[in-house]
Amino acid sequence: MRVNMITSEAKPFLKVGGLGDVTYSLSRKMVVYKIPTSITMPYYRNIRENKLGLNIEKVSTFEVRMAWRKLQCDIYKTIYQGITYYFINNDFYFDREKPYGYLDDQERFAFFQLASVQMIYEMELAFEILHIHDWQTGMIPLIYDQFYKGKLKKEPKFIYTIHNPAFLGLVDRKDLYDYFTINESYFDNGLTRLDNKVSYLKTGIMTSDRITTVSPTHAKELLNGFAGRNLQSCLEYRKGIVRGIINGLDVKEWNPDTDPFIHVNYNKENVLSRKIENKIQFAKEMGFKDPSLPLFSIVARLTEQKGLDLILDSLKEMMDHKCNVFILGTGEKDIENKIAYYQSVYPDNFVAKFMYSEELSHKVYASSDFFLMPSRFEPCGITQMISHRYGTLPLARATGGLVDTIIPYNGSNHEVADGLLFTEYNKNSYLVAFKMALELYKHKRPFSKVVHNAMDVDHSWKKSYLEFRNLYLEAMGRD
Ligand code: ADP
Repeated sequence: MRVNMITSEAKPFLKVGGLGDVTYSLSRKMVVYKIPTSITMPYYRNIRENKLGLNIEKVSTFEVRMAWRKLQCDIYKTIYQGITYYFINNDFYFDREKPYGYLDDQERFAFFQLASVQMIYEMELAFEILHIHDWQTGMIPLIYDQFYKGKLKKEPKFIYTIHNPAFLGLVDRKDLYDYFTINESYFDNGLTRLDNKVSYLKTGIMTSDRITTVSPTHAKELLNGFAGRNLQSCLEYRKGIVRGIINGLDVKEWNPDTDPFIHVNYNKENVLSRKIENKIQFAKEMGFKDPSLPLFSIVARLTEQKGLDLILDSLKEMMDHKCNVFILGTGEKDIENKIAYYQSVYPDNFVAKFMYSEELSHKVYASSDFFLMPSRFEPCGITQMISHRYGTLPLARATGGLVDTIIPYNGSNHEVADGLLFTEYNKNSYLVAFKMALELYKHKRPFSKVVHNAMDVDHSWKKSYLEFRNLYLEAMGRD
């Protein structure tokens, strides 16, 4: 089995969000387990300028047809950690300052998709699996069907992973021809149509052999209309091939035993004493008046999704129970302003830093007793997994991947629990879980058992890798 991931992001060359982690980490695991895996991505400006000391060579040039236009495409190639990277280039589309955020993004990724499949044809590559990701690649199975079926060295199966269903990749009906040279009847018959537009995302859902989302609960949420009714109906239609597979965590990067950023390293054996040392040091550095109080923290983008308002609205009650609260994040100005206001109200117990700091984030995970994730929605979430790894108990809203990764404490199940959950998005529901967390914290034996349970959870990529490998085999009819 040979796998090619087609994606707009992959580490170490480009990471804007979680997508860049997933495509790289999954490919890396595939390679480690002897499944030849390559990645196809655009040749962004930052890659051509900063080659990471690698030899990136041009290996092919051909013309891509977009209706009446013929555009030059150059393919560059390198190998990094056993993964072959193919870079698709057209200077006009990809030699730009940023990877995304242009008015012609849909057209740029139309070119990218056409060129990715054509590259397989021109270079006579053979892949049994084409694993495509998010809206930037949703048209690929249809492009294959229209122009390359029966012409490639191998007939690939298509796996489509939806990381973020909010981006639909919308273009006009006429663009189906203008960009892809595909007849508009594919709009009229509904295959590519979402409301009155062509949607790359919907097309990927309709035409792939298997569809995955980033957690089983999020898969259910999507089927229940989370991303809007129209997407729901096409997902419902494809229900039999939809799976939820949780992302893994880079357990080498996130390891309290070797973490170079934290005050004192620790592991499961010495977590309780060493974590307190980290907390006291951190709380002093951050200016908390009483460093010994239980510490509740947040590391997040400050957006509505992350549910910060619930915490801010509950601060008074939280403070009445004597605790410290720390926030690290950047984002929407009105949320920052609200946080800054509360800092002035509770200067001794509430501290926030508005910055992006990898180093500080590591310190937060190592020093906190509880990690707050009151998210309105969370397709997978990674910070709850990092928290587990650092023996910090996630206190999260029961949504998406948080449901799938946290076994909630219910007052008596400390033998198995590894965090806390609350269901309703309101203050009362949150405060019930908060008070339960404090109760647990006061009882050393059950608390330490839950901390140990958290540190025992296996969030490595191995599990996800196995699920994807099985899904690939299933798609190939080899299960
Ligand atoms: P999302 O992808 O929705 O932003 P995730 O929970 O999946 O949320 O991932 C967030 C990642 O970004 C985590 O690794 C977290 O530590 C990191 N992060 C978020 N904000 C900051 C910040 N201000 N400083 C450092 N790291 C941050």
